[in-house]
Amino acid sequence: MAFMHRISSAARCCVLLILAVACCCPSRGSFAQNRGRQNKRPRDVATFRKKYAELRDKYAASLIELARTCEDDKGLPEAAALIRALAEPIDTTELRLAPLPRHVVAPLPADVSADERFWRSQLKVRQQDHAKELYALSRQALFDDHVSFSLDLVREILLHDSDNVAARRILGFVRSGDEWVSAFEARMRKEKKVWTDNFAWLPEDQVERYQQGKRYTNRRWISAEKDADLHRDFANAWEIKTEHYRVRTNHSLEKGADLARKLEDFHELFFQMMGGFFNNSSEVQALFAGNAAKPGTRQPKQHVVHFYRTRDEYIATLKQLTKQPIEITKGIYFPDSGIAHFFFDPESDDDSTLYHEATHQLLSGSRPMTGEIGMKSDFWIIEGIACYMESFKRDGERFTVGDPQHGRLQAARMHFLNEGYYVPLREFTRMGMVAFQSIKKPEIAMNYSQGAALAHFFMHYDDGRYREALIEHLSQMYSPNKATRENPDSLEDLTGVAAEELDRQYADYIRRLGPPTQRTRAPVGANAGP
Ligand SMILES: [Zn+2]
Repeated sequence: MAFMHRISSAARCCVLLILAVACCCPSRGSFAQNRGRQNKRPRDVATFRKKYAELRDKYAASLIELARTCEDDKGLPEAAALIRALAEPIDTTELRLAPLPRHVVAPLPADVSADERFWRSQLKVRQQDHAKELYALSRQALFDDHVSFSLDLVREILLHDSDNVAARRILGFVRSGDEWVSAFEARMRKEKKVWTDNFAWLPEDQVERYQQGKRYTNRRWISAEKDADLHRDFANAWEIKTEHYRVRTNHSLEKGADLARKLEDFHELFFQMMGGFFNNSSEVQALFAGNAAKPGTRQPKQHVVHFYRTRDEYIATLKQLTKQPIEITKGIYFPDSGIAHFFFDPESDDDSTLYHEATHQLLSGSRPMTGEIGMKSDFWIIEGIACYMESFKRDGERFTVGDPQHGRLQAARMHFLNEGYYVPLREFTRMGMVAFQSIKKPEIAMNYSQGAALAHFFMHYDDGRYREALIEHLSQMYSPNKATRENPDSLEDLTGVAAEELDRQYADYIRRLGPPTQRTRAPVGANAGP
């Protein structure tokens, strides 16, 4: 079954890419990238990671010293434990995004004990000092064109010093009362709208009646049943608008809200992870300098998603749009219209297709593309990154991607170890779309798995050493500039490491990726990394 799924996924993407050839994408998108061709030079962030590790060690040492003082001199074991936990190293085997604090930190109450005042203020000084050093490092990294790495540091600043105004501004937060929110959310608040998981954004004075089964449609209140009847035809579908998405569905308002929420979560992690794709260094430099337009004044274009009530309706509708074999797909993205289509499957709650197609949509839908991607070479990463992103998960308020237990990665591991199947990087990257897609099964499925695992390798190897290079490579592949797009810098150039050496590192990496376990949902890949 799993194997069939992989074949079907490969076929699905084949459909997508045949379309990509046939269609010419009109200029669209809000992230105009006029990135000039950079000199070929490595994007290896190893030296910056080393500096980061030194800062981290220094910070951890200062926290442990404070914890000891709390324990030995002050008799405060609970405070010591809390401080020690903050000194723990961060596991980078998979990419995790913890939510940033929303509330502005309140000043210590006047009646707090002298001991508590001591350790809290000492901790704050250490955190703010570390945040300042991270800020300086992020500026240096940006100066060296390591945009993604620089933005990662800016986000980390807020984990130590959550009211750091510069970092908040760079990441687009605005203050609303005693909370930090996105500019979009601030606008919703001004309009007196609130987010509800069942009904999406609603005027706050309508929430109670919605919960009582009433719906406000065409300027009048009707029952939920009547409302469902009105939206049964896709032409009258519900439309759920969020910050980055417009979801149309004739399934139900609740399902549309759920889908929009999942896509917004996905967008948040993706946008954070791919900072260098969505912002060029001069844009981020302007943000650092405080010279950019106020965050949020530019409303991003919303990505459109259609979600059909049944598979039959999905097939019937899409058959009118394409001659491709829609029956073998579980979702599809059309680059020409920019719309991703999915359907309700009562037998599955697997969202991997949703995140796969959402990746294609975010990457190509965010750039003013005027042609096809990966036609001459390097096609593998277009599918590799989408297959990698299938592992996206929400776990409470945390988002993760890159679980080493994910099916694609485990398949690549099995093919590598048991069947000795691996296409060397030089050969793998040489293939353009047609060469990649014309390979017959079972190799095509194995190549999709290898693509996912190679994307994982470039994202996570040696603590994310090659992530910046990979994102720059992707950015060039999706460049609006035809010459750059057709001839992107190779991963050898961008990492500064020969393909044969990358092959060797990958072999070592995949061998150390843990075998499958019984767990169905893996929160942390603690023992499975490089
Ligand atoms: Zn695909």
